[in-house]
Amino acid sequence: MSKVLIFAEFSHGQLKKGALELLSAARSAGLHATAVLLGTGAKTTAQQLGAWGVSEALVGDNAGFDQYNPEIFATTVAQAIKDSGADVVLASSTMMARDLFPRVAAKLDTAVVGDCTELSLKGDVTARRPLFSGKCTAGVSFTTSGPKIILMRANQLPVGDAGTASAVALKELPAPTTGGLGTLVKAVVKGTSEKLDLTEANIIVAGGRGLKEAANFKLLNDLADVCGATVGASRAVVDAGWVPHTIQVGQTGKTVAPSLYIAVGISGAIQHLAGMSGSKVIVAINKDANAPIFQKATYGIVGDLFEVVPALTQEFKAIL
Ligand SMILES: Cc1cc2nc3c(=O)[nH]c(=O)nc-3n(C[C@H](O)[C@H](O)[C@H](O)COP(=O)(O)OP(=O)(O)OC[C@H]3O[C@@H](n4cnc5c(N)ncnc54)[C@H](O)[C@@H]3O)c2cc1C
Repeated sequence: MSKVLIFAEFSHGQLKKGALELLSAARSAGLHATAVLLGTGAKTTAQQLGAWGVSEALVGDNAGFDQYNPEIFATTVAQAIKDSGADVVLASSTMMARDLFPRVAAKLDTAVVGDCTELSLKGDVTARRPLFSGKCTAGVSFTTSGPKIILMRANQLPVGDAGTASAVALKELPAPTTGGLGTLVKAVVKGTSEKLDLTEANIIVAGGRGLKEAANFKLLNDLADVCGATVGASRAVVDAGWVPHTIQVGQTGKTVAPSLYIAVGISGAIQHLAGMSGSKVIVAINKDANAPIFQKATYGIVGDLFEVVPALTQEFKAIL
């Protein structure tokens, strides 16, 4: 039976939804799971794991882990995997994990598969991931004798109910040392947004060139505020300098899979679809009935966004 190690990301003392998805997957497969938590608050956050069937966690409760440093994290996580004896390692396919785990895999001389949308932990461990901007998917199995590292896209696996809280034994990881590092993060300037990051958001309202100019993103911000959404964008408007690249969705932006994706004035180019076609429900608002986005949309509204979006905002205000 596989022994699973889960790289559990957390924020403000709460396990992230992606971590809960992985914990639920291991629990429902009846596997013994251990978790790794890095950063200030790791010890107290780790106690939440008991309700998800985890009885032991490896924690680096140290401010030296608060900023991601590839060298420090790769050394620490590779050692934690070795110490745990895990043969399967699960992490959310976040920007950080996609940078970190290939380094970890190289240190352990093993294999990593990222951006997966399906996972099977029963019997042989297998995963499935999109290829060629989502035009097809590939089933992946492992031939490595080392730990199998799988990075799952967020919002792909169901989160079960938390069970009864129980104690979690903590094993402390060595504090990070900065001596001999090639790079050192001096400061991180956080964005001002209070909203969830796109990759974690349950609802996304994304805008494209149909908005005509940067100021019109206010329409999307108003809609997003009412329904608790995060605002995203197509590359066309990022390239135009209307919005920052941090909110770009697509092949060269972020990959998202929210419960609801509202595409406003976005044509639906293949490179955009590559980043959002895993969304559960897609609503497209476009004045061109032949726009490719409608082929992916669950619901399509053919109309002028300058009329449709304010009307939607008013309706949401009335019912929420
Ligand atoms: C290598 C590569 C990587 C790329 N990566 C990405 C990526 O990561 N993400 C990405 O998004 N793109 C990416 N692109 C760009 C992509 O090909 C498209 O150019 C881009 O997605 C188009 O953005 P858009 O839909 O906002 O603009 P457009 O294609 O110009 O579409 C605007 C839409 O708005 C509609 N519209 C106009 N006015 C209104 C109105 N009043 N009401 C309603 N609808 C209206 C139009 O009918 C049209 O469908 C990439 C391209 C390349 C070559």
